Amino acid sequence: MRYLAVDEAPDLPRRVWAEDLLREQAAEAIARWNALRPGTFELVPALDGLEAEVAIVPTATRTFVDFSTAWPLAVVYCGADLDFWLPHELGHALGLADHVLPGMNTTGYVRPVEASEAYRGVMSYQASREQWFGPDDVRMMREVFPLPHRVTLAEVAK
Ligand SMILES: [Zn+2]
Repeated sequence: MRYLAVDEAPDLPRRVWAEDLLREQAAEAIARWNALRPGTFELVPALDGLEAEVAIVPTATRTFVDFSTAWPLAVVYCGADLDFWLPHELGHALGLADHVLPGMNTTGYVRPVEASEAYRGVMSYQASREQWFGPDDVRMMREVFPLPHRVTLAEVAK
């Protein structure tokens, strides 16, 4: 299963700056990703936008994520249609691809994957919201962003 739309997974944590009006929503979305895999995102202080690799800003257009123009920098543009989709859009800021429905017009989508039974998670158009951040997303994050090797007590003793 291919999960990434980019060639290589970015370094974590991804530092995120959010425009004031979107900050609370950003914090909630980040908490969901970090519950799945600690250290995925870090919300930088309101004034430190220049420190961030990911910016969350409002737009008058429909919601979209630009993660190809200046990758590994990404900008999440939040339109009036954002609704509950911010966690999904942040997935694109991780370089993750959309898992789209067969036959969908994918103009403007970056290297989408066709949705399947094998993955029903936050990046899939086939998943219900109840399936977001479930076992399929755990599997995805373990594969794409494995946690650094833990030093065991036995190794410390050497
Ligand atoms: Zn998407």
